[in-house]
Amino acid sequence: MRSHYCGALSTTHIDETVTLCGWVDRRRDHGGVIFLDLRDRQGIVQVVFDPDTEEHFERADRVRSEYVLRVTGRVRARGAGTVNPAMATGEIEVLGKELEILNQAATPPFQLDEYTNVGEDVRLQYRYMDLRRQQMQERLILRSKITTAVRNFLDGEGFLDIETPILTRATPQGARDYLVPSRTHPGQFFALPQSPQLFKQLLMVSGFDRYYQIAKCFRDEDLRADRQPEFTQIDIETAFLEEQDIMSITERLVRELFSAVLDVELPEFPRMAYAEAMERFGSDKPDLRIPLELVSVDDLMQQVEFKVFRGPADDPAGRVAALKVTGGATISRKEIDTYTDYVAIYGARGLAWIKVNDVDAGVEGLQSPILKFMPEEIVASMMQRLGAANGDIIFFGADRADIVNEALGALRIKVAEDLGLVSAGWAPLWVVDFPMFEADGDGGLTPLHHPFTAPSCSVEELVAAPAAALSRAYDMVLNGTELGGGSIRIHRAEMQQAVFEVLGIDETEAREKFGFLLDALQYGAPPHGGLAFGLDRLVMLMTGASSIRDVIAFPKTQTAACLMTEAPSDVGAAQLRELNLRLRQVREGQDKAQ
Ligand code: ASP
Repeated sequence: MRSHYCGALSTTHIDETVTLCGWVDRRRDHGGVIFLDLRDRQGIVQVVFDPDTEEHFERADRVRSEYVLRVTGRVRARGAGTVNPAMATGEIEVLGKELEILNQAATPPFQLDEYTNVGEDVRLQYRYMDLRRQQMQERLILRSKITTAVRNFLDGEGFLDIETPILTRATPQGARDYLVPSRTHPGQFFALPQSPQLFKQLLMVSGFDRYYQIAKCFRDEDLRADRQPEFTQIDIETAFLEEQDIMSITERLVRELFSAVLDVELPEFPRMAYAEAMERFGSDKPDLRIPLELVSVDDLMQQVEFKVFRGPADDPAGRVAALKVTGGATISRKEIDTYTDYVAIYGARGLAWIKVNDVDAGVEGLQSPILKFMPEEIVASMMQRLGAANGDIIFFGADRADIVNEALGALRIKVAEDLGLVSAGWAPLWVVDFPMFEADGDGGLTPLHHPFTAPSCSVEELVAAPAAALSRAYDMVLNGTELGGGSIRIHRAEMQQAVFEVLGIDETEAREKFGFLLDALQYGAPPHGGLAFGLDRLVMLMTGASSIRDVIAFPKTQTAACLMTEAPSDVGAAQLRELNLRLRQVREGQDKAQ
């Protein structure tokens, strides 16, 4: 129907007759001449109708915002004073000859150029309208470019795109499963995959060597922060490669993406052990653009009477750490109170601080409510260790190590953002040498990645000291966001069984849940490993969007609902009966499902 996209027209098309299809972005009547801004996925062009074209002019007069038009006309240069430098097509316009109204449109629920005034729920309810906005079009176009570049790269490296089932058994990745009742097996359920993990491992057992899939994953989590119940992974698995090889391929993939799509050459990817990342940044996904670090002062605080610090310093599970903020002495008492509330979210029971006014004047030159609890020489040693200078503020965390790390780790980012200390650009890294397990809070252990991750020790060593075991896992981090994570997998049944045992999964349960995996490991499973990238997060970073919802065409809300289709929804009694389901609580007005 069209000869060109609106946004693709330029001065090279002057004097050509073109046919365009698109939506009316704006209509203006300038005393007898009608200006229509016509929009499609490439952009906007101005079309002018004058009364000479009679019936077409009349139609142009009738159109309203978001009508769908087909216009034929001649491209011409705009007159001197009417060039619009703010518009990509601003040097030209189309003199309309024919206009066909392909469809009318009701008054839009919001003006597309005023979307910021409407709540996100209205945007999500009318998502198809929201997606007409240029910014959303650009983001989804970039997303498509990214997936195309991923496919091209992996195809070039000999990877095969193989689909794995959506209706399957639970594959644990640490979240709740979405369940689907089976009609043909009354009382039984499929689980939607939290990731294709076990299938991709089984493909390695089958000999496919290099697999990838751009895969939908489903996790029924409480949607804290920026999560979606269904999201997309670039899922990768290989056999006969060591972690160095896998890291090198996936690093090249990300480099290639940034270079092909954004024309950005990423810097080196340093490698950092998990323990070091926690010690220095309180996080296993440190944002290396921020020049602030946590410094442990436990040894010094073991020498003070001040209980708040002394207690955690003496406790092997505790930590006392300092965060020095260069130039932070300008932070007001009121702002410190706000930061205190902020760290409380992470469980911190307070936020001690010292302002450095004159470092040469000893304690006299410092300002803080906690100085009176500390001997002068301890304060002096601490100032020295931290390299404190005039104008700095030092914040402290003293609690269980995990609370201190989370709280000061989060504070580090917040303060840096508030004070404009986050440098521009890209700071990637690999985090390696993760512990195999972490405490689950009930005295047991839970996998830090997933239970199929290989430890870097023997079965005997693992069983003897599971809490001390490290894994062969690696995470790729970019600007404080985990882009992807993976590991070398367990490929021997005895090791897999040992890990299940550590996790408190006995043989019967292991057989029942993972019998197929344990069987497969008996039939010549090769050494294998892989990684998965979170595509949504990657696109978010690459487009500069602030939420993954802004790079997903039809995302769900924080309560895991789709406002447009109103899913999830009630189902009728007949459908429930067919599935052998009966609801325990039937809401008022809903069909009884007995
Ligand atoms: N399946 C893992 C995840 O989704 C990634 C991997 O180990 O490859 O987190």
